[in-house]
Amino acid sequence: MQTYDIAVIGGGPGGYVAAIRSAQLGFSVVLIEKSKTLGGTCLNVGCIPSKALLESTELLHQANEKFSVHGIQTGAVSVDFAQMMKRKTDVVISTTKGIDYLVQKNKITRLLGTGNLIAPGKIQVQSDTETSEITAKKIILATGSEPTPLPSVPFDFKRVISSTEALALTEIPKSMAIIGAGVIGVEMGSIYARLGTDVTMVEFMDAIIPTMDKELGSALERSLKKLKIKFQLGTKVTGVNASKKSVTVSAETKSGPITLEAEYVLVAIGRRPYTAGLGLENVGLAPDERGRIPINDHFETTVPGIYAIGDAVRGAMLAHKASEEGAAVAEIIAGQHAHIDYNCIPGVVYTWPEVASVGQTEEELKTAGITYKKGVAPFKASGRARAAEESEGFIKILAATQTDEILGVHMMGPRCADLIGEAVVAMSYRASAEDIGIISHAHPTFSESIKEAALAATDNRAIHF
Ligand code: FAD
Ligand code: NAD
Repeated sequence: MQTYDIAVIGGGPGGYVAAIRSAQLGFSVVLIEKSKTLGGTCLNVGCIPSKALLESTELLHQANEKFSVHGIQTGAVSVDFAQMMKRKTDVVISTTKGIDYLVQKNKITRLLGTGNLIAPGKIQVQSDTETSEITAKKIILATGSEPTPLPSVPFDFKRVISSTEALALTEIPKSMAIIGAGVIGVEMGSIYARLGTDVTMVEFMDAIIPTMDKELGSALERSLKKLKIKFQLGTKVTGVNASKKSVTVSAETKSGPITLEAEYVLVAIGRRPYTAGLGLENVGLAPDERGRIPINDHFETTVPGIYAIGDAVRGAMLAHKASEEGAAVAEIIAGQHAHIDYNCIPGVVYTWPEVASVGQTEEELKTAGITYKKGVAPFKASGRARAAEESEGFIKILAATQTDEILGVHMMGPRCADLIGEAVVAMSYRASAEDIGIISHAHPTFSESIKEAALAATDNRAIHF
């Protein structure tokens, strides 16, 4: 039986990073993944294919809505949906192949099959064709998550679908009802609305992307309405009736029951940890009430030598959070002092305009009784944004009243997915708003709006508004 220093179960952004960092630290490593391709949810059916389709459909939107403003006449623009989907698949294939290369380069043993804990330090690996066993001194569980089904709306994966099927449709739907206006809802809704699908989003809360700063939700809702997306907020779905070609959704609004007809219903009400077939019970581990594997501050479960990271444990279900934990757990096993500042993990929504956030929201600061100053720079005041026809949105910086330390940064606008990086650096080094306000930012760039928001938060010193 083969013995390794470290066995990692799950080859997503948590698991493959844990495996690579462990190998870098000199451990012998085996990576067990049940899918043929590495990369997990993120690379295969999550971040990467969704961003590929968001990019393609945003180009279409630009061609239809913005080119003529720039003086570019194209005539009628048409969509080759099969090619759009093929490009998405090609991007996924090349990205997952890249992980295969990295795994080989780092001399990690890759086993194809489902990893089943049979005892502490002992794993059975079951593939379609064979069963084998390995032992490892330490085990890292990185088995990720799966879409949460709505009890009254079971997936049939044909008409009642999850993001996985929505990323692989073979036709542009005429209509789609999306249950849940969270991150998946607004990203997938944007893709299909840009393609001409009649999209209605049904959300239980009174706001879209409700866990983010409230002003972002209302600004994004206004923006998505321009794509003709319709919203049914404060609405509880009570059931669906799916036929071969369409679905009827029944829901309860504050003013009474409604029904919606659509070709597809996308259920995007969150994801839940995935631990099926992992054999947690064989080693005396039990998931918590939300299905998460309980861990301590060092990612170790209650069974010594078994660690867990990523979507399968507490915290935001984000690829970069999983990867940070993957690197950190390997370093902790190696006796190093790894630390993750969870307050500095950014969240990004890849609509256009993009939405991005780091640190505390205004609502959180109010609830915690923390007094703060607020600087808001509208992109309307940015020369670069006007030159790019991209002046929708704003950057908001929240800083402590007493110390001026930046507590949260929330933005919607062009390239905010990348702009948030500056805010993450600033907060990681505990910068004050004035620190950012007095740093030179190249002109004309979108990043000047960060400086302006920081100056506004410092003491109303913004120059351009
Ligand atoms: P996963 O990526 O889920 O990987 C777990 C792996 O473990 C899987 O490959 C699975 O096959 C394998 N596995 C499970 N059980 C076993 C077993 N017993 N034996 C062997 N293998 C097993 N996050 C972002 O940060 N940015 C985004 O833009 C973004 N977009 C997303 C879009 C969509 C549509 C979705 C669904 C998610 C998106 N996410 C995004 C979330 C992101 O995909 C996850 O947070 C991330 O993949 C979690 O990484 P992980 O390694 O913990 O788990
Ligand atoms: P989410 O938690 O972001 O949003 C779910 C939404 O569904 C919430 O707004 C919630 O109020 C609503 N909801 C819950 N129950 C409902 C019900 N019964 N009826 C109507 N609405 C209901 O979850 P998601 O959008 O499914 O995404 C899952 C995970 O994937 C998230 O944790 C997210 O971080 C991750 N993800 C990240 C990105 C990104 O980083 N850009 C993109 C996609 C997914």
